[in-house]
Amino acid sequence: MDNFDIVVIGGGIHGAGSAQAAAAAGYSVLLLEKNRLAYGSSSRSSKMIHGGLRYLESAQFHLVHECLQERHLLSRLAPELVYLDRFYIPVYESSCRSRLKLITGLSLYAVLGGLNSSTHFHQLSRNQWPALDGLKQHGLKAVYQYYDGRTDDSRLTRAVMNSAIELGGEAIVPAEFVSAACDQDSVDITYIESGDTKYCRAGAVINATGAWVNRVLEKITPARPEINIDLVQGTHLVLDNLPLEHCFYFEAPQDRRAIFLLPWNNKALLGTTETAFTGQPDNVVPLQSEKDYLLEIVRHYFPDYSSNNKTLNVVDEFAGLRVLPAGNESNFKKSRETVLYRSHDRVVNIYGGKLTTYRLTAERVIKKLHSVLPARKEKALPRNITLKAP
Ligand SMILES: Cc1cc2nc3c(=O)[nH]c(=O)nc-3n(C[C@H](O)[C@H](O)[C@H](O)COP(=O)(O)OP(=O)(O)OC[C@H]3O[C@@H](n4cnc5c(N)ncnc54)[C@H](O)[C@@H]3O)c2cc1C
Repeated sequence: MDNFDIVVIGGGIHGAGSAQAAAAAGYSVLLLEKNRLAYGSSSRSSKMIHGGLRYLESAQFHLVHECLQERHLLSRLAPELVYLDRFYIPVYESSCRSRLKLITGLSLYAVLGGLNSSTHFHQLSRNQWPALDGLKQHGLKAVYQYYDGRTDDSRLTRAVMNSAIELGGEAIVPAEFVSAACDQDSVDITYIESGDTKYCRAGAVINATGAWVNRVLEKITPARPEINIDLVQGTHLVLDNLPLEHCFYFEAPQDRRAIFLLPWNNKALLGTTETAFTGQPDNVVPLQSEKDYLLEIVRHYFPDYSSNNKTLNVVDEFAGLRVLPAGNESNFKKSRETVLYRSHDRVVNIYGGKLTTYRLTAERVIKKLHSVLPARKEKALPRNITLKAP
């Protein structure tokens, strides 16, 4: 039977990041992914490496600070994959977020980001408004511009996995984890590859399966309690007839949520929603109600599309799942912090998290496992490893 220090289950950004951190720390590591790399939320995000300006509203200052530090680091380590873009926030007479609230939020964002040039923001002069891609001018009171990070989530995941492999890590894709049995010294793992049942042994297991986290944990013996979670789906649409040069951060007129409209591969990326999801994670798809909600926002902010003169042409759509703590408060307000749950001595489960903070999460996961693994010679520090675009 093949033996590894660490087996990682799941080939999203957290699985790839954990494999990279494990290989960099000198451990032998195997990653198992049942579909393809970045199959889950890691290819269905808003594709931003951001501080999460809107998390300031729910007072998640620590998260925003960490995200901004990681944004800074990743734009240095992966300049081909992570870049800063100008984002525009319009404020209307009807907006619920006032100019004062925005200036306070952007100032705090700048302070939490270390007051460097990437955290500068300013107010546009009135004569710049008409150049904003046909943005509604009626009732417009101010437009603020700040910077945030953008990426291609799927390529970033593959770049991190390539880095893990360069450091000696291995991956089997597709390979479906079936079960694991923990004892005092190791974990015996069963998985399916090309229809065949296979086995391997590991010193530790990292469950990085995103929305599938509890489904995988249920298959690890001895049985342990799970963390209660809510799955919340987020839909994005890609439009091909809305010529867009600017990144917009809108307030949805229907419910005041934050919505992004971004140029993306010569098209426009629009998202996202927050809809409770109770099905099988493999079956998540955009709902008609979500599509109607998102298109209504574009029609509201771009008068050319509010009449029937121009219809909005949706050429692609996708939905991903967030893993949030279970509870009654609104999904918008729930904590977005990553939770690392050590269900067994040799098993760490990753709940929630963000693309932006994957490196930090992976570093913390590996630190948790040091005590049950043999000493190995460190090869590199992920915070110093540059990433090449795949
Ligand atoms: C709508 C939306 C927008 C978002 N926007 C942003 C953003 O702009 N910026 C940001 O920083 N974060 C964003 N996030 C958060 C971010 O996308 C996720 O936190 C992150 O991608 C989760 O990665 P993951 O590796 O944990 O899970 P996933 O990417 O879902 O990966 C889990 C993997 O596990 C695999 N798997 C499951 N079961 C098994 C099994 N039995 N055997 C083998 N493999 C298995 C799946 O196939 C999947 O590939 C967004 C999330 C959503 C839903």
